Amino acid sequence: MIDSHTHSKYSKHAIGDIEEVVLSAIENGIKILTITDHAPFPIDENNRLLEDELQSYFDDISYVQHKYSKDITILKGLEVDFLPEYLPYIKKLVANIEVDFLIGSIHFIFLNEKRVNVWDIEVLSNKQLIVQYFSYLKELIESNLFDSIGHPDSLLRGGIDDKVYSEYFYSLIPLMKSHNISYELNASGLRKSTFDIKNKIKRKGIWNFPSKLLVSVLNQNNISFTIGSDSHTPNDVSLGIQEVLRVVHQLGVKEISYYKNRKNCKIDINDCINKE
Ligand SMILES: [Zn+2]
Ligand SMILES: [Zn+2]
Repeated sequence: MIDSHTHSKYSKHAIGDIEEVVLSAIENGIKILTITDHAPFPIDENNRLLEDELQSYFDDISYVQHKYSKDITILKGLEVDFLPEYLPYIKKLVANIEVDFLIGSIHFIFLNEKRVNVWDIEVLSNKQLIVQYFSYLKELIESNLFDSIGHPDSLLRGGIDDKVYSEYFYSLIPLMKSHNISYELNASGLRKSTFDIKNKIKRKGIWNFPSKLLVSVLNQNNISFTIGSDSHTPNDVSLGIQEVLRVVHQLGVKEISYYKNRKNCKIDINDCINKE
């Protein structure tokens, strides 16, 4: 079993030290774990690693890699924020680090100089905002800096119709292929609230992402998939992954990818799904 998106207290809005994340992963049957704390970024800079913490972050991962080498494969990753105007900053940051896996994620969208966060779910169905998000996504892919797109369908929390959202995404498929970037199946969509546009309330327990429609179309186009719980506490490591795997398996997905030394390694999805 794989979990390729996990956070520790280095992300500040997450809890648990790296060893606690690892112990929970072992307990939950994870065989390949990637730690992906939020990389330093000039926006919301205190909710993530600081540049001067990177070395101790990597040292902590090296420590558990050796200590638990018999039980689990642990990989070094980062979830890097993407915003077009910070491309020079991001390029410089990633040029100076050695990791196994880089997720590129969009958490902030600027519209008319105002910042919208992807967790401001009441406003995510705004058409201009969606258009802006997709223009960022295009640049994220074209930057060629990342292995996988983090929660690429998280705007679906805003109650946008899956079909409408997928239509926006289709134009990016050729670009994803030419830049060899994977699509992340982010299992946190199973536990996060969705905005009910009609009744103007937040609802829990609705499958908002990953988008089943989009996943099946991407799969037909041979896009590869990474998978992660996006855990922000040791308790949530591996959470939702089995459920997502079973569903995407039924949609026709045959392999799941993880990255080692920035190389795409594929595993048969049948070997990731726990037998009942
Ligand atoms: Zn986070
Ligand atoms: Zn994220």
